[in-house]
Parts: sequence; structure tokens; C-alpha cells
Amino acid sequence: VIPCAILTIGSEVLDGRVTDTNSQDIALFLEEFGGQVISKISCDDDIEAIVAALRFVTPNARLVIVSGGLGPTSDDLTREALSSYLGDPLVRLPEVLEELARRYTARGREFLEINKKQADIPSSTLILPNCAGTAPGFVSHRPELSIFCLPGVPSELRVMLQESVAPHLLQLGIQKASQYTFRVFGLPESVVAARVSQLLDNHPLKLSYRSHFPEVQVKITQLTPGADLDDSLLSKIRTVIGPEYVFSQGVSAPSLEQVIGNLLKEQQLTLCVAESCTGGLISKTLTDEPGASSYFLGGFITYNNELKEKLLGVRKETLEKFGAVSAEVAIEMACGAQSYSHSSLAMSVTGIAGPDGGSPGKPVGTFFVGLSTAYESMSYEFSFASSRGRIRRFSTYKTLDLLRRRLLGLTVPE
Ligand code: ATP
Ligand code: MG
Repeated sequence: VIPCAILTIGSEVLDGRVTDTNSQDIALFLEEFGGQVISKISCDDDIEAIVAALRFVTPNARLVIVSGGLGPTSDDLTREALSSYLGDPLVRLPEVLEELARRYTARGREFLEINKKQADIPSSTLILPNCAGTAPGFVSHRPELSIFCLPGVPSELRVMLQESVAPHLLQLGIQKASQYTFRVFGLPESVVAARVSQLLDNHPLKLSYRSHFPEVQVKITQLTPGADLDDSLLSKIRTVIGPEYVFSQGVSAPSLEQVIGNLLKEQQLTLCVAESCTGGLISKTLTDEPGASSYFLGGFITYNNELKEKLLGVRKETLEKFGAVSAEVAIEMACGAQSYSHSSLAMSVTGIAGPDGGSPGKPVGTFFVGLSTAYESMSYEFSFASSRGRIRRFSTYKTLDLLRRRLLGLTVPE
């Protein structure tokens, strides 16, 4: 395991104006190489603060990745700080200066005196080209310690990690670790973790769980460099989790909406949805996937009863007798969506997202999912007591997972 540290620089990161997504991107990148982030610091655009942060992280880290403060303005001080930390004067590189001048001119911007400082790097470091922006980065390699300085602009940082940092890591003999992800829905993280860890106790693998509500992601990283993950172990992991709960798996495991899209395409089926409590979230999720129009016909958002009647043909008597949040209404919503759109399948959901509107018989978090084809229709009742946002996300996943199970011929759990 390679101990790594992340240093993000910028007052805007400290005061909360900007969410520090760079450290997240850097951490995920380092994980791909089997790196383990042992510390992560954010500090102000201030030479002393940056030097102090470097002194704090470097005794234990093999790799340090710094982001931010490489711009041309007076508050961009990462260069000066590295020069001070390394005890190494800044030098101006003529070829970088030329390249900068060329880029500024190409963009129709004047190349000012202050911009020239972007061609300065500590003399013992190597330049890291930035093909996504103007400010190049630089790297200091010393025995047992490499420090990469990258720009703060997130889009530039991401490109440079892959295009400029990765080749240096390979040169240092740090290879991409084999990684594999299982994406799970319908089991709590603690249950998944208990099942998987019993199996992996004696393997040289790093196991990490990410709870991206409401799914749980299990990521396996091979710690032996260059070695692949063993197929029979991967299939054992799937079995121990519970195969029907693993909606996708792989080196880059697809999302639930991608899985559904693929199944619908393979089976040449189309889908329509009728949403109440999710307010369009199911349609939004399905259409996050490019090319969704080939199987997703569209959706109805019928939040109020009159619209459920007018658009979906839900009967007034059904609404009065059972209430809008009921198995009967869920079925009629799905039937209405199916017969209006002539889709192969229609899904519906109606529920109480709260915080108000619950009753003893139907507490907040109660929801019904309807499924209808031209030949049959059915509904399922679930309950998930939580906050409004989580109930909506959960019921969206539940509806999509129910569809997935239907398409795969699996049973539907409680
Ligand atoms: P520039 O040449 O644009 O000045 P820079 O290397 O000096 O680049 P910064 O000035 O630190 O970078 O930040 C540039 C932009 O990137 C700002 O809009 C800032 O909000 C954003 N940014 C900086 N650090 C982070 C971070 N850790 N996470 C997300 N965004 C960030
Ligand atoms: Mg800047």
C-alpha cells in the first residue's frame, strides 16, 4: 500500500464557498493505483500555511498531490511555497513561456507580465503539461517522496491526473491496481459488509464500501501489483452477498438505469411510468442514460387526484374508497399509463413522502408500486420510514429494481 496525502489550496475551499471536489477526485484516482490516502489537508493561499501543511504530511507519505494556487494572480502562491519547502529557487522556463504566450494569443487574450509567472517552477522539478488549460503543473521527485502540484480548476485537474500524473506513477513503478465493484440494492450496508468480510478475511485485498444511498457499493482492490482478481473469488462474493441483490458488477459497474436500459433493449420492450410521490425522479433517473428514448416512452407526473383521473383514467370511486396512496390506485395508474402509451410495461408509484400526510394505517414512508402490461397488472406495498428526500430516492430505486427483477424473472423481496 502506498501512503498518500492530498493538499487542496484555496481560501474558497476553506470558507465553504467551494465544495472540495478536487480532493475527492484525487482520492479516487489514487485508489486506482492502490494508494491509501493517510491525510488530507486544505489550507489558505499562504506560503507559510502551505509549507507547514507539506511538513505535516510528508514524513509519512510517499506521494503528495497538491491542487490549486497555480494561477497568475498574487493570491496564487503554490509555486513560491514549493520553492521554499524544497529549498529550491524558482526558474522561468523559456519553452513554457513561449507556449503560454501562444495559448493566450490563440484565445484572443493579451499575454500580460503577471501571466509570465505561470512559467516558473522550482528548479529541481519537472513540468507537467496542462492540455486542458493554461497553467501547467509540476512534480518534484525525491527518493521516497514525489509531490505533484496541479491546478485548482476541477476539469483541468481531472485531465491532468490521467494524462500527466499517471505516466509518472508508472515510471515510479506504481501500477494501476485491479479493481472490481459490486453494486447492491435492497440490503443494508452492515449486512453486505458482514457477508463479504467473512469471505475475504485471508486475502491480500482491500475492501471498501461506499454507501451511495440507497445503494451499497462494494469495491475490491487487488493489493498485489500487476495481479488480477481471481474470477472464482468474484463469483463467491456475488453468491455470498445474494446474487439477486447485486444489480451490477464489473471493473466499471453500470448504474441501475443502465442495467434496466440494457434489459429493455435486449428484450425489445418499451416502458412508460406514472409517478406521484417521486414527482418525476423516476423519469429523470431513466433519462440520465443517453439513448433512453429507444425504450423509455415517457412519464406522467400526476401529483393531484384530478390529474390522476384525467390523465390516467384512475376512477373517482377508487380514489375515494382506497385513497390516493393505495394498491388499487397504483394499479390503475400503471394501467392508465400502459394503455395510453401502448408501452410493453408501465410502472407507477404512489406514496407518502412526508413529513405530513401520514396516518396510523399508512404512516409516512408507505408507498405502493404498480406494474402493468397489456395482459396483467399488480401492485406491491413497501414502507420506508425516513426523511422526504430519502423516501423519494428509495421509492425510485425500489420501483426500478422491481422492474429489473421482473425483466430477469426474479422474485420481489418484501
Ligand atoms: P487559475 O489559473 O484558474 O487561478 P489555480 O490553479 O490558481 O487556477 P485556484 O485559483 O485555486 O486554481 O482555483 C481555480 C478554480 O477552481 C476556482 O474556481 C476554484 O473555485 C476551483 N477550485 C479550487 N480548488 C478546488 C477544490 N479543491 N475543489 C473544487 N474546486 C476547486
Ligand atoms: Mg487561482
